Amino acid sequence: MYTRVKLCDLPTPLEYLANISRIYDNNIYIKRDDLAGPEPGGNKARKLEYILGEVRKKGANHLITCGSVFSNHCRLTAMAAVREGLDCTLVLNRPAADSEAIDFSGNYFLYNLLGVNIELVDKSERDEKMEQLEQKLKDQGEKPHLIPAGGYSKAGIHGYVEAAAEIKAQSKDYLGEKGKFDLLFLATGTGTTQAGLLIGNYLHKCSEAIVGISVEPGKEEGENKIKESLKEYCQDLDLSALEISHDLLLLDEYIGAGYGIIEDDLLEVISLMAREEAILLDPVYSAKAFAGLLSFIEEKNLHNQDILFLHTGGLPILLNNSTNFQDLLVGN
Ligand SMILES: *Cc1c(COP(=O)(O)O)cnc(C)c1O
Repeated sequence: MYTRVKLCDLPTPLEYLANISRIYDNNIYIKRDDLAGPEPGGNKARKLEYILGEVRKKGANHLITCGSVFSNHCRLTAMAAVREGLDCTLVLNRPAADSEAIDFSGNYFLYNLLGVNIELVDKSERDEKMEQLEQKLKDQGEKPHLIPAGGYSKAGIHGYVEAAAEIKAQSKDYLGEKGKFDLLFLATGTGTTQAGLLIGNYLHKCSEAIVGISVEPGKEEGENKIKESLKEYCQDLDLSALEISHDLLLLDEYIGAGYGIIEDDLLEVISLMAREEAILLDPVYSAKAFAGLLSFIEEKNLHNQDILFLHTGGLPILLNNSTNFQDLLVGN
């Protein structure tokens, strides 16, 4: 039902974090989906493999998607388009104030480097703009394909249903007979990744529990979005979305002041991971999830648990925010 177009070298590595494990008295592992897809990769690459399957089936020649000026999804969509020889237009949120210049670095720089089309609009007009573009291209005899923000789609979910099977296979190397992790943590935005993992985990039992750390406010909204994803995906299959939704765990107490807002304790977590493990986390997604994992360990007083962290990528966003670290790292 879903066709894969190879964009990622799979499986991505699953590694043991010896130093962090020692400090936190648990066995902490990392699934390197920051290495999925063209460099610098991320979780969107797994979703795009199956989205591209639909694009090929349909014979589309132009990808349209949307996001913020620092969207990893937009960057990987642009890279996928380049690889597939497709045109690509990114509809990006215009900065709130006209005077606010867009930082020509990170993902925004990469969109330009990759040579895709960029349209800046108010966030509220994004969907309308994408539909207008789609219609315009159709009128010109082209075949556009519209990808929702963050790759939120059944094909996108499927990428992470498959990832759960991959994690299951790799867990045997470390956990032997036990064969599954006690906890799996990840950063959750649109919830596509978490929905896929929940379904995959139901099928393959790679972890006792899956904990989504929400990166945007609105826990109930986030949960509903994931439940909606489960329902849509399971609809055509012999799977009960309701039963799977009992396993849904989304925590929103680690968001800090809000989406994309970077606080000092997050900078500490990012430098801890860099100094102990040479793992690079980004301050909008992966560092919030990892900070959530560490807080969870402390709050629940966990010891000797096998805990997997799914690294979803986002390196360009870390580099975007380098000056935030200056005081912490080199003093003043
Ligand atoms: C998009 C993104 C997420 C969130 O993934 P969803 O499937 O939208 O929940 C997490 N981490 C990074 C680095 C991302 O770019």
